[in-house]
Amino acid sequence: MVNDEKNNGNDYQYIRISYNLTSKTPVHPDLTKITITPKTRITQGDDYNTSVITVENHSGTHVDAPSHFLKDGRPIYTYGPDELIFNSLLLLDLSKTADELINKEDFRTALEQFETDQLDFDCILIRTGFGKYRETDPEKYLTKNPGISPEAVSYLRGKLPKLRCLAIDTVSMSRYGRMREMIEVHQTAFQEKAEFGKPLLFVEDLNLQSLQSGMILEEIMIIPWQVEGIDSAPCTVLVKIKSN
Ligand SMILES: [Zn+2]
Repeated sequence: MVNDEKNNGNDYQYIRISYNLTSKTPVHPDLTKITITPKTRITQGDDYNTSVITVENHSGTHVDAPSHFLKDGRPIYTYGPDELIFNSLLLLDLSKTADELINKEDFRTALEQFETDQLDFDCILIRTGFGKYRETDPEKYLTKNPGISPEAVSYLRGKLPKLRCLAIDTVSMSRYGRMREMIEVHQTAFQEKAEFGKPLLFVEDLNLQSLQSGMILEEIMIIPWQVEGIDSAPCTVLVKIKSN
């Protein structure tokens, strides 16, 4: 993947880990389906091509901001570039099956290998392996996804004061069909609390299959659609990888 022609001799390369939005993008069963409708077409005698797209804001790869679950929480369009770029990344392989919980113990074990002064992560990418079902079994991908527990979110915010983002290869950070758990997971992530650092952002439905375990991830850039009046938004996510 990392090759000299592509990266113009630089010792780094950017790769994109967000999915394309298509009319077939699997979306949560409660959401409006995506439509992409040609409005004008050169092939139909029009002078130019244009299209109308209909997309609910939690479709495809997207970023959840505090306003999604909190009355006074910040919406994503108020975040500046510096708040959407992360430089201390951890890719965690936590292999999970259908409906399985990602719990505090998973993170405690994973973080044991680091000294206290190394615990300066600002973004954790959680790779459950569930992304493989997105194409092969969208129904399973949408309704049986593993999800993080509220206790795990609280543990991470307490343990990692610089943490500002959690990202995952499932359709949602929380398991499907468990309303109470979903609300608690999101509120715990988004609440302002004296003992925690900044409220978290969640990036969901991310393509983590293209990241190889040996890669050195130097930076992640989350680039949401800039739309006023919405809580969260679809986003493009770029990762800067060190070449050798
Ligand atoms: Zn969402």
